[in-house]
Formats: sequence, C-alpha cells, structure tokens
Amino acid sequence: MCGIVGYIGYEQAAPFLLGGLEKLEYRGYDSAGICLHDGQELVVKKAKGKLEELKKLTDNGACLQGTVGIGHTRWATHGEPSDVNAHPHLSDSCRFAVVHNGIIENYLQLKDYLMSKGVSFRSKTDTEVVAQLIEYYDEGDLVDTVIKVLAKLDGSYALGVISKDNPDEIIAVRKESPLIIGIGEHENYIASDVPAILAKTRKIYRLENNEIAILRRDSVQIINTDKEPVTKEIETVNWDIDAAEKGGYEHFMFKEIMEQPKAIHDTIAPRIKDGKIVLDEIHLTAEQIRSFRKINLLACGSAYHVGVVAKYVFEKLLRIPVEADLASEFRYRDPIVDEHTLTIVISQSGETADTKEAMKEAKRRGSHVISIVNVVGSAIACESDDVIYTWAGPEIAVATTKAYSTQLAVIYLIALHFGELLGTLAPEEYSRYVEELQTLPDKIGQILKNEEKVQYLASQLFNSRDVFFIGRNIDYALCLEGSLKLKEISYIHSEAYAAGELKHGTISLIENGTLVIALATHEPLIAKTISNMEEVRTRGANVLCLACEDHPEVEKVAQNTIYIPKACDMMLPSLAVVPLQLFAYYVASLKGCDIDKPRNLAKSVTVE
Ligand code: GLU
Repeated sequence: MCGIVGYIGYEQAAPFLLGGLEKLEYRGYDSAGICLHDGQELVVKKAKGKLEELKKLTDNGACLQGTVGIGHTRWATHGEPSDVNAHPHLSDSCRFAVVHNGIIENYLQLKDYLMSKGVSFRSKTDTEVVAQLIEYYDEGDLVDTVIKVLAKLDGSYALGVISKDNPDEIIAVRKESPLIIGIGEHENYIASDVPAILAKTRKIYRLENNEIAILRRDSVQIINTDKEPVTKEIETVNWDIDAAEKGGYEHFMFKEIMEQPKAIHDTIAPRIKDGKIVLDEIHLTAEQIRSFRKINLLACGSAYHVGVVAKYVFEKLLRIPVEADLASEFRYRDPIVDEHTLTIVISQSGETADTKEAMKEAKRRGSHVISIVNVVGSAIACESDDVIYTWAGPEIAVATTKAYSTQLAVIYLIALHFGELLGTLAPEEYSRYVEELQTLPDKIGQILKNEEKVQYLASQLFNSRDVFFIGRNIDYALCLEGSLKLKEISYIHSEAYAAGELKHGTISLIENGTLVIALATHEPLIAKTISNMEEVRTRGANVLCLACEDHPEVEKVAQNTIYIPKACDMMLPSLAVVPLQLFAYYVASLKGCDIDKPRNLAKSVTVE
C-alpha cells in the first residue's frame, strides 16, 4: 500500500521517479508527488488523482531538475486525498522532505508537542510529523537526527528522506512496511517493490525492520539504529521484466486471468515427482503433523476465501478441525492456539500487515506457522517457520486472480501431502487426486478458450443493481470470492450467501429481476441447490447457474447457464472461479470502471 521510490545518481531523477511510480501505482493511487534537490533547494510537485495528473503537471518530469529525489504514490490513511496531503512532505522551513508508507500511530501527540513549540503544519497527514521532527531535532548530521526521530515514532513505516543541506544522500528506513534498495552503476535507488527498479537493476538489498540505508551515488551503507554496520547479501532478482508489463492486453487483470494455467502449472509441477507430492519446504514430521489438534488458516480478502475453501478440503481429507479466520479479527481475540495448532497464513504480497501480525500472535502462542506467499523474501515468508511459494509471478491488478488460484493449488498440495502422511487418504485415492491436480491447468485453459459466453452474459447482465451469489459447501466458499471479485471492480452491490441460509432472512431482498448467481458444482448437494434456485426464481430472480457440464438439469431452473469441465469435487473451485473472474472483469469493463485500480483500494495492504 503506497509506493515509494528514490533516486541518487548523475542523471536527471524525475523521469526515473515517475517511471518507478507508474510501476508501483497498483499500491495506491489517490495522489502522487515527487521532490528533487535542484542543486539549491528542495522542489516539490504533487497532484491529487492518478499519476497521470502529476505527469501532466511536471511535463513528464522534464520541468524538474536534479539528480537526487524521492517520489510517492499514496493510499491515504490520515487526511483526505488532496494536493496538500500528498507526499513528499516538507518540514517547516523546507529543509527536509519525507515520503512514508505506513501509519505513525502516535502522530497526534507528536503534532501537539511540535505545535506547542511553534511548528506549523500544512497537511492533515500523520507523515508530516516525521518531516517536522527531523527539522526540530536536527543538529547537522542527518543520520543521527533520523535515528533520534525514529525513537519517537510508534507504528509502521518505510521512509525516504532527503535534505536541502545534503544533496548527496538519501536516507531510507524500514519498520514493518516493505522497502528495497536497488544497486546500480554510479546510481542507487529505493523502492517499495521490485518492478519500480527492474529497468535499471536486478541487484537489491531487502531492508529488515529497524535498518537504515544511507544511499550515496557510489555507495550504499546499511546500519542499525545503534549505528552499527549491518552486513547483507546482495540478492539478484530473477523476475522476467515482461512479467510486470501488460504484454498487449488492455488490463493487467485480464492478462493475469489468462496466465492462470501457467501459474498453476509452475506452482504444482516442481512439487510432484513420480506421482508423489514432495513438499521439502515443510519441516514437519508425520509425528508432528499427527500431534496437531486444529489447523488455523489466517488471511485477509481473497486469501481468506482460499482459507474457507481449505477448511472444507482439510476437514474432508484429514479429519482435523479447521478454522478459517480473518487475520484482523484473530489477533485481537485472545485466540485459543498452542503448539498443537498448525497455523497456515496466506498472503500474495507477504507484507499484509493484518496477516503478518496475526502470524506473530500465533507464533507467540507456540504454533508452527506455514506461509503461502507469492513474493519471495517478503516479511511473512521470512518470519514464518516454513514458506511455500506460489509461483504466480508478479500480480499487478489490485483484484487478485492468479494469486488466488495458485494459493488454492498449494492448499491441495498440502492437503494431499498431509493426507498421505497421516494415512487418512487411501493410496489409490491419493494417486487419483494427484492426477486430477495435474489436469487443472489444461481444464482452465479450456474454460479460457470459451470465454465469449461469459462476455455475452456480462453484456446482458451488467446493469444489475444487486447480485446474490448462492451455493452450498465448497460452492459457498467460492461464492465469497465470486461476489468480492464482482463488487470490488464493478461497484455493483453483491453478497455471498450459503444457499440454505437465504430463506433465513436474505430472501426478502429478492425481487423481480434480481440477479442470483447460483454455484451448483458440488455434486452431492446439487439437488438441494436446485431447490434453492427454485425458491428465488419463484420470487422473480434472474438465475445464472454455474455447473459442471454433466449436469444439464440445472437449465430447467436457471435462465442462463455456464458450464465448466468435470473435476473431483474439492478441486472444482479452481475451475469455477475462472468464469466468475471473467464475469466480474467484463461487467466492470462494460461499466467503464478502472479495472486494475478500483476506487479506494490498493494492493499489498501494509496498514492495519
Ligand atoms: N499514513 C500516510 C498518509 O496517509 C501514508 C499512507 C500510505 O502508506 O500511502 O499519508
């Protein structure tokens, strides 16, 4: 959430800063700004709205001189999106500029204190206190001053700081919010995420909590808050640069939907050898797995919906009680967790603040934590006991598609692996499931080939005001994701309901023409779901049913039907989610929404 970039070198910094921000815009896009040292003073340009506004304002950076600078694309937490609240923030006498990702939790006390000392503030942000504190405590040495200020701050931050009096340095700091340092030839960079610097370098340092980087044109020095040097390995990023580009597609979301067969293949193929699942990443013996009395899945948003699918899958295959929990709720609930609980946390970015904190809480209580993460080297990946990476490649669209699908694939891998170790899965069942898993990429490919049908249905239904997704069992778990996908990018009000629960209240909302999307893939309960479809149809609903191709009987009740290939029950969500993603995509497109950057949202949510 929020993108930070910084440049120090011998070239003009502004074009790099704007280019880097463009690659980070998925992290926040309500306003953007850059600050350059023009040789004499700090010059700031900021604009409310998308990065495009800042580009216009600065003539694509051409009107700004300077070889050192910082930039920011914001997702507001404190103070509405506006020019004045946009970053970078300057200190009172404009000697220091700061960009910040995170929340300074004690900013009100700090602001009161500074105001009582005569400091005047321009913005409503929490961030401005950092710039003002640096000026207030300044005694000449920027590093010493920053260290002094850090001791006053509560909360989370990634910071980039430049000073008018020191045009040869950028100071970067990290606590909880992500920040990387890019190492170039006679130039160095800071960024919230790798895509921002890929055009320049693949060599990076990942800052850890409470580390401070001092960037000069020809050196990067990393120290801790006691000013002791920190030795770090340079990491070489092997990302394919095209993977973070749209590659001819109109939107990242569509590209990422289309990439799902490959992403799932890349995630499962290296972990299946001679028909057996090999998960070397998990350091648990069969004995340890047997000792777990409960599995907790902790995540937010779509990753939480993966957790809900996982509850059905694990309970069925392992016969261990499972709780899928929202990370933001779990951590403040005094949860019942101990060494006999296995915790699985799921996060695309590996930086999701709520999930990270929930993970720490589980660890504190003695639980073994496995993380399912897409971004290599991210905080959750590093802090969990075991990490299983999803090999989805960079996901840029705010609404997740391929990360969700690969997370689900990892759930199947874990469930089957544990099932085999515990003996809750008979060998022939295990082999059949492993084979099924390997067919998923091809089956998804088939669904993608027939996407015109979904596009057509979207063109008929995109004017719906309210939508209800209904389903039972694992179909209900998928309803949660289908509904979220639709509402987050198309802004159509939508709800997910367990089909059997509708009559206990929500059915009163069904009226003539209300769109109900019924998921009826779960074979054992199809007849029950059809009855629930009848109930809403009788009350005027327009029913769109998603079913497997061998169940044409749903057409007797539904006005429209989408079919998916057959697969074993527990893996059907991997197939059924694809038409739901496409439907959301086309509806949002027909409504003219900003698909990759839906309003008010941001990817990689690094604040609580
Ligand atoms: N809390 C800061 C603000 O609202 C930073 C938000 C962000 O991470 O974009 O300006």
